[in-house]
Formats: sequence, C-alpha cells, structure tokens
Amino acid sequence: MATHNQHKIGELRQILSGLLEAGEVIGAGEAGAPDVAETGVTFAQNALLKARAVAAHTGLIAVADDSGLAVDILGGAPGIFSARWAGRHGDDTANLTLLLEQLADISPEHRRARFVCAAALATPDGAEVVEHGYLPGVLLTEPRGNGGFGYDPILVPDGQHRSCAELSPAEKNAISHRGQAFRALATHLGPLLG
Ligand code: IMP
Repeated sequence: MATHNQHKIGELRQILSGLLEAGEVIGAGEAGAPDVAETGVTFAQNALLKARAVAAHTGLIAVADDSGLAVDILGGAPGIFSARWAGRHGDDTANLTLLLEQLADISPEHRRARFVCAAALATPDGAEVVEHGYLPGVLLTEPRGNGGFGYDPILVPDGQHRSCAELSPAEKNAISHRGQAFRALATHLGPLLG
C-alpha cells in the first residue's frame, strides 16, 4: 500500500482479511518504495500516481488512496488541499481552525460537506482501477469529540447525531469514504490474485 500511515495499512488489512493474510499487505516504506509527488489535480489522479509508482518500483500489485473534505459552499474546497489548507502539510488543528473561521457566518442549512476518497489499484503490467467513496454530512461550528483525525471533529455524517470524532473506529470504518472505496477496490483484487 502506497502510504506510510500505519492506521491506513491496518484498515486495509482488515478490509482484505478474507483475501490476504495480514503479512501479505505491506506499506510502501517496508517495500523500499520512494515517496511520490502528488502532482495530480483530482483525488483519483493522485491515488493513481501513488499506486502506479509503487507497482513499478516493487513489481507487486499496489493500492493507494487520496482523500479530503469537500465543502459545498466553498465549491468543493479544501478538496485535494485538505491536508495543507492552512499552509503547512498535516497541521490538522490549523486546517480545521481556518476552515471554521471561513465558515463562521454560514448557517447550518448551508454547511453541507462530504469526505471523499479515491482508492486506486495498479499492477506492474499496467492494469489500473479507481473506486470512490463518500461520507456526506453537515459541518459543526465547533469541534466535538476526541477520536479520529483531521476534520473528524466537525463533520456529523447524515443519519448520525455524533461527529466522526465521537464514533468508534469500527463505526466510522463501516460508513466512511475510505472504507467504501477500499471495499469496492477489494472486489477487483480477488480476480487479480487468482
Ligand atoms: P490523505 O489522503 O491522508 O493525504 O488525507 C488528506 C487530508 O484530508 C487529511 O490530512 C485530512 O485533513 C483530510 N481527511 C481525509 N480523510 C479524513 C477523515 O476520514 N477524517 C478527517 N479528515 C480526513
């Protein structure tokens, strides 16, 4: 898997547990693959760039994801810039604080947003598949909950009263954009593994 995020690798092991042993799912770092610049302009392009590079480097089937938060009233932003919205890559608190400031005057009925995930699969001989997953909901005006990461404390998924940061990991995985995209991708992986 083209990531250094152990949390994502663990999640993927769980989703693929009917197809592969946990030890058969390895991270890009473990496989010695270099980092890839995310130069695409869509989630799908960035996920494919990562999967393609790792498949080429390792000679193994590779999967990758790219994800973020798309806010309706901001025309889909932060989108692919979600991880660096406040300027510095991966500063979750600064990103969330800036977004809340930008939406300060926006009433609840106009605070719709969704988490988006593109999950890509690439094989060394050039086969490629991309699947998307979405977690739509409404943005709070203040963070709630201690779980999760990123924008989890401010998104209340449709049909829930709790923010994503108040859901257990299992509850979130069952409905999340990433869970949906990787479960869809897993249906393509079975036949490729023979
Ligand atoms: P990446 O796909 O790991 O690069 O994530 C991109 C960014 O999108 C993260 O840094 C978070 O800010 C945001 N993001 C993606 N998925 C989630 C999620 O499930 N919860 C909260 N934030 C997320």
